[in-house]
Amino acid sequence: STPLYSSAASDVYKRQAFYQQMWKTIGESGRWQGEIWNRRKNGEVFPEWVSISAVADEVGGGSPRNYIAIYTDISERKASEERVRHLAQYDFLTDLPNRALFADRLKQAIGAAQRDGSRLALMFIDLDHFKTINDSLGHNVGDMLLREVAQRLASVIRVSDTVSRQGGDEFLVLAPRIESPNDAARIAQKLTESIAEPFHLEGRKLVVTPSIGIALFPDDGTDMGNLIRNADAAMYHAKQHGRNAYQFFTADMNARAMERLAMETNLRHAIEDRQLVLYYQPQVSLASGAIVAVEALIRWNHPELGLVLPARFIPVAEETGQVTNIGEWVLRTATAQIMNWQSRGMPRVPVAVNLSALQFKQGRLHDQVADALAAVGLEPRYLQLEMTESVLMTEGEATAATMAALRAMEIEFAIDDFGTGYSSLSYLKHFPVRRLKIDQSFVHEMTRDANSGAIVEAIIALGRVLGMSVVAEGVETAEQLQVLRDYGCDDVQGYFVRRPASAAEIMSLCASGAFAHVRRPTA
Ligand code: C2E
Ligand code: MG
Ligand code: MG
Repeated sequence: STPLYSSAASDVYKRQAFYQQMWKTIGESGRWQGEIWNRRKNGEVFPEWVSISAVADEVGGGSPRNYIAIYTDISERKASEERVRHLAQYDFLTDLPNRALFADRLKQAIGAAQRDGSRLALMFIDLDHFKTINDSLGHNVGDMLLREVAQRLASVIRVSDTVSRQGGDEFLVLAPRIESPNDAARIAQKLTESIAEPFHLEGRKLVVTPSIGIALFPDDGTDMGNLIRNADAAMYHAKQHGRNAYQFFTADMNARAMERLAMETNLRHAIEDRQLVLYYQPQVSLASGAIVAVEALIRWNHPELGLVLPARFIPVAEETGQVTNIGEWVLRTATAQIMNWQSRGMPRVPVAVNLSALQFKQGRLHDQVADALAAVGLEPRYLQLEMTESVLMTEGEATAATMAALRAMEIEFAIDDFGTGYSSLSYLKHFPVRRLKIDQSFVHEMTRDANSGAIVEAIIALGRVLGMSVVAEGVETAEQLQVLRDYGCDDVQGYFVRRPASAAEIMSLCASGAFAHVRRPTA
């Protein structure tokens, strides 16, 4: 009664041919099965699986008189197949095309651009400080934010463009057929503006900004891997340039991206190959001129690059996770050095070791510290740990617990680069911190800029109120030293006192009483 027609045969002639073929098959083999479209009473069309068997008539000597048809409604199965296909191609959180589908479209777009000699833009988008939002407001809010960001990004692109989530807070945008880099800049601008309006989530108002890196085909790369890598490098550059900005890829960035890659590979062998060294920089009391601590500062003796400073390789090590092994090596080496000095009659002072966020996160810090001390038999009070405000403020409960356990061993904590992060001063009291290190930027500026001077003075006062000692970093001149003395700073560290030096140099310095110039002038 209801008309049957095949999904492949939409017009009348094809439909006829379809049924002829069906009957032919039944005639020859006695059975047919296949998919057909049927129509429900309400007019809705649905897919059906039909299996038809001819029933041979016993009396009539075998020619079929009857046919049995079994109809199975397969709309459910079809829908779930469709869902599976969708899941395989779209991001579960934002419903944007996922990595795989994006890669597919990018490959096609590159092929098309190659054929007709057009340009395309690939943009790498990363949200600024997303991690902080996620950590402080919870993953739930983080997820909601990502969904809304995805919607806004998708709403401003052209129909021919694709926006995709690559994971985390990273998005990629493909804009095929652009005329000039300016077009790409305009799209980046629109994307930025689309998320500039505050988000309202769970009664909170959140402001997020993106950093965008742009790579162009064929200018910055002709295959997918290159384009993505270069857009990523450009995005990094945008972050370094104060975030909330977009950057085009340049040849110079390419050189740096290559260096990064080389570092990443070489860094894996740096520990075994004994290429890492610790330098030490004394911290000296303003009142007595006595050395009160030494800070261990890592250097990488690279076979080709020479002595590489930590600012260049620690960020790479943090990204690849190698910083935890390096950190463990630093702990072991620094504690062994202090023990060695003590056994040679040097002043008994603590060594300060810098920690990175990952060491707290990894959860093995307490054991690593205890092992390092035990290995050489150093008393815990001769170890000080330095961490930045951002680590303290964002790493949460686990960090607080680790710090408490280490503090129970009598290990002291100092906050490095104090004044540059976003410390909540009331929060600060909850951590077992005993020492503040004033960031060098304030020390450098304080004799020229009244604001910096005021900040230095305020940090010293804060330290006094909270019962913490204060050390000024980056002291380079006698004038700075004098100002710090006037403000009542406890200790100083910097080139004026002594540049970071090898363990052997520090040893001979201490022997010769080299810090007399720091002592308060008598008379
Ligand atoms: P930081 O802990 O704030 O270290 C102070 C930096 O200031 C050192 O740079 C030091 O050499 C430099 N400095 C000291 N006095 C002066 C001065 O008078 N003027 C100027 N302009 N600079 C001065 P360095 O050694 O390049 O270390 C840079 C940063 O690398 C350190 O900053 C620290 O955050 C990180 N770092 C160093 N060693 C380690 C380590 O073993 N592990 C980790 N995770 N980070 C480390
Ligand atoms: Mg430090
Ligand atoms: Mg510092």
